[in-house]
This record gives sequence, structure tokens and C-alpha cells, in this order.
Amino acid sequence: MKQEWYPRPYAVQMAAQLIDGKALSAEVRSRVRARVQQPGRQVRLDAVLVGSHPSAELYAASQARTCDEAGIAYVLHRIDAESGFDQIAQRVIALNQDERVRAIMVHLPLPQGVDVERVQSLIAATKDVEGVNPVNIGNVVYGRRSLVPCTARAVIELIESCKRDLRGVPCVCVGASNIVGKPIAVLLMQAQATVTSCNKHTHNASAIASEADVLVVAAGVPHLVTAEWVRPGAIVIDVGIHRVKAADGVTNTIGDVHYESVRQRAGFVTPVPGGVGPMTVAMLLSNVVDACREP
Ligand code: NAD
Repeated sequence: MKQEWYPRPYAVQMAAQLIDGKALSAEVRSRVRARVQQPGRQVRLDAVLVGSHPSAELYAASQARTCDEAGIAYVLHRIDAESGFDQIAQRVIALNQDERVRAIMVHLPLPQGVDVERVQSLIAATKDVEGVNPVNIGNVVYGRRSLVPCTARAVIELIESCKRDLRGVPCVCVGASNIVGKPIAVLLMQAQATVTSCNKHTHNASAIASEADVLVVAAGVPHLVTAEWVRPGAIVIDVGIHRVKAADGVTNTIGDVHYESVRQRAGFVTPVPGGVGPMTVAMLLSNVVDACREP
């Protein structure tokens, strides 16, 4: 008989415990601050922003704030909106070559026609704090020290806040994009979980998901996952973020998980907002400090 890692009677009788991404993020950021304050440490993030897309501007402004709170210097390199691949590549290469620069990220979106993956592949792997250079995910696959993609790292931290030992635990990832779903599946494999990856072509994903003790949802489909997808007592991590306008005209942020129904069945669930999002920010800062440590 399959051994339950989480006692079912508790799981079926109570609504899920909320996994508080904001509180966990605050803990990580305070650890980051302590590391930054160590004598002789110089920690700085260099970010490239092409043009002035509103979402990128917003992200850059909040990044400047969170870096400041953590004691990390933040340098924003603005490039003209009309720039093509060559100009962006030149800037990234110049940052790679600058010894004072240890942590680099490139804001998205890039102008139409610029190959994002090609730009990301140019960022020196040791300075790539978002973990978007394929070398870094390759290192994760091989279990080598690496800068891990921030959202994937955030997901693992959130899961481990409920359950540290994932060996043999059935985990399902709904969504398999290169930058979110696949790295999450790889990190779960590194933790020696038993991992199933679903994508939009998967037959009966809800039935597969309902066998999971840990269900991670990164499909980019608002409210895709309802209670029927969830095994009683499971840990459910919602990576999705969607801004939707309600009938009354108010804009809300929702996830890929239908929180209200899922919380009646899950053991633990992350809210949106306040779950994976704030932890992703904390993981970026943590990667910045890692990139800036002496080799
Ligand atoms: P994507 O569109 O690149 O990939 C979606 C993946 O989900 C694909 O593999 C697709 O095959 C799969 N999929 C789609 N519909 C499915 C279905 N019905 N059943 C099973 N699989 C399905 O999206 P992405 O970039 O991976 O982002 C996913 C979500 O996560 C988005 O809502 C995005 O906004 C959010 N996101 C959040 C953070 C964060 O920090 N919280 C970071 C990145 C992305």
C-alpha cells in the first residue's frame, strides 16, 4: 500500500494552510541584507532596459527599491527603443567584460524582432542572476553549482517550507516552458522526487495532477486548476499571474489555480498575489549576492 506522507484525516477536515510567500520572502531578504553588510562586500546589480515598456519600467522601479532595501547597488543601463540585436548584444558583452560588474539581468520585453534567447545566451553564465543562460540550467541538470532560474528556485523554497524531504514524493508540474516549468521539474528531480511534467498536449492532465502530493502549476491559463485536479492534502504552488478586469471594472491579480475551490482540498496552497511572486524577487536578490561573492 502506498505510504501517505501527509496524514489524510487532517487534510480532508481542514481548509489548506496558506503558504505565505510575502513572509518567506521577507526572511530571505533579511538574510540577503545580512550577507550584503558583511565587511568588504560590494554587491551590485546591473540591469539592461531597452526602450520604456510600461511593465519593464514598473519592474525596474520596484527592483531599484528592493535592491536599495537590501543594501544592493542598482545600476540601470538604458538603451534606445529602436535598438536592434547588435546594440543590445554590445552592451551585454561590455558588461560581461567589466570586472566591476558581477550580476547582470536584461529586462523584458525586448523590441520586436530581437531574439530574446540569443540575448540571454550572451550573458556570462557566472553573472546571469536570472539563470536564463542555457549553461546555468545545464549546470542544474548536472547538479553543479549554478545560478538557478529565480522562479524555479522560489517554487522549491516554497515547497520546502512545508516539506523538506522530497525524495520519492510524487510531484506534477503543469506547464513545461523553458524558463519556468522545465527548470522546476529539473530541480524537483534534483531533490529526487518522482516527477511528471504536463504540457498543453497532455491527455487528462487533471487526473495525472490529482495523483500528486506536490502540484506546481505554471500553465499561463487563468483558474485552470480547480479542486478536482488536487489530491486531498497536497501542496499546491501557483506560479500563474494574470491581471483581469472584473465586471465592476476593478482589475484583480489571479493565478492559474482557482484558489477558493482548491483551498478546500489541498493541504497547503500559495495565494496569488503573495505567493511565488515575492519569493521570485527574493531569489533574484539571493542570486545577486551569490554572483558577487569571491570565487
Ligand atoms: P508559457 O506560455 O511559456 O508556457 C506555458 C506552459 O504551460 C507550456 O508548456 C504549455 O504547453 C503548458 N500548458 C498550457 N495550457 C496547459 C494545459 N491546459 N494543461 C497543461 N499544460 C498546459 O508560460 P510561462 O512563461 O511558463 O508562464 C506560466 C505562468 O507563470 C504565466 O501565468 C506567467 O505569467 C507566470 N509567471 C510567473 C512568474 C512569477 O514570478 N510568479 C514568473 C514567470 C512566469
